[in-house]
Amino acid sequence: MLEDKNNEKTSLEKLGEFGLIDHLTKYFTINHKSTIKGVGDDAAVLDFKNKKTVLSTDLLIEGIHFDLSYMPLKHLGYKAVMVNISDVYAMNAKATQITVSIAVSNRFPLEAIEELYAGIALACKTYNVDMIGGDTTSSNKGMLISVTALGEAEEKDITYRSGAKPNDLLVVTGDLGGAYMGLQVLEREKEVFKVNPNNQPDLEPYSYIVERQLKPEARKDMVELLRKLDVKPTSMIDISDGLSSEILHLCKNSKVGCHLYENKIPLDPTVINSCEEFKMDSTTVALSGGEDYELLFTIDQADFPKIKGNPNLTVIGHMTDAEGGANLVTRADTLIPLTAQGWNSFQGS
Ligand code: ADP
Ligand code: MG
Repeated sequence: MLEDKNNEKTSLEKLGEFGLIDHLTKYFTINHKSTIKGVGDDAAVLDFKNKKTVLSTDLLIEGIHFDLSYMPLKHLGYKAVMVNISDVYAMNAKATQITVSIAVSNRFPLEAIEELYAGIALACKTYNVDMIGGDTTSSNKGMLISVTALGEAEEKDITYRSGAKPNDLLVVTGDLGGAYMGLQVLEREKEVFKVNPNNQPDLEPYSYIVERQLKPEARKDMVELLRKLDVKPTSMIDISDGLSSEILHLCKNSKVGCHLYENKIPLDPTVINSCEEFKMDSTTVALSGGEDYELLFTIDQADFPKIKGNPNLTVIGHMTDAEGGANLVTRADTLIPLTAQGWNSFQGS
């Protein structure tokens, strides 16, 4: 997990900015017809013909969004791409290109940046996305990564946060709370490591949730599945901040309310077990823990037979009139208003 200090390292100064850019970008290939020009000129050139272009960008800062003491750089590169293309999929679009901008201090050797780019390259290959440019600069302390993702879609296919209607079903892909519980495990091991650096943690029982935190996957497969099932969501959002705050976004933008059923929230057994161990409430974790990168969407009731029984899709509630607000229907059948405690990056700072 931690850097091997014995190996030879190449300082970034030795390469210079242009040498570094060349070195990092030379292994990327261009696969999309819409990419006319990628890395190597003053700007990339794209041609989406008669399709609409979607674009989303994110900035990740060391110490705020990631902690390199347990986040391997290769995973960080992979995750930086995932969090962005997830936003493109949440528009029901196909992710096609990314740009990657980094700021690094000279505490990072070339080999570290190579690891970061190995993760970025793996993500591009796995999700069939062209890396078409970026920017490289120095930072006097930590590392910053900004990824911009582009995608394409037919205008009629694009799903906004604003299309949900009363009586639409609320559906989520995969399961929730794993990334947050994975973070709890990693934070705990970090503290143990500080006290006893020779202690080798056994993360095996937690491998699913640790992977959810360190190597999230954007749900390209679910966008493709919905297309195959001929289901167009009426509204959609990706779950980066926690179920509660994403539901509130859909409700606010669509001017509807919602009933979310506590007993329907999909939880992996590892999440339930670790919640017991950490004395946390699994519903709270699913509602407020972030970074699952699942898709949350609404569908017309008439489409229910098309998704029924699919193990990847869970109906967790339905939309209502705006007046009733957004509520959790608990196991005891009481209504509790949802609040967006979410994942507030300004908390505690
Ligand atoms: P400029 O001076 O016009 O900003 P750069 O020298 O920064 O040009 O970039 C040269 C080329 O390399 C451009 O195509 C740019 O998009 C690309 N590039 C620069 N930094 C990165 C990076 N970190 N990752 C990927 N591509 C990059
Ligand atoms: Mg530049």
